[in-house]
Amino acid sequence: MTLDDKITRAKELISKREEIDAELSTLLAGNVSKRLIRCSLCNAEGHTARTCPQKPAE
Ligand SMILES: [Zn+2]
Repeated sequence: MTLDDKITRAKELISKREEIDAELSTLLAGNVSKRLIRCSLCNAEGHTARTCPQKPAE
């Protein structure tokens, strides 16, 4: 294997890894935002300001 071959192969592997990293971060980001949802009104976990039980009734 020549140096050029190695560089070409390395670039292929890096671009493949970037695709995998992008897909993984999408998957993990989806999980994190679901699991670590936090209310901006009362700062409790598990619901959003929209569904907050402490939201003042109209
Ligand atoms: Zn809340």
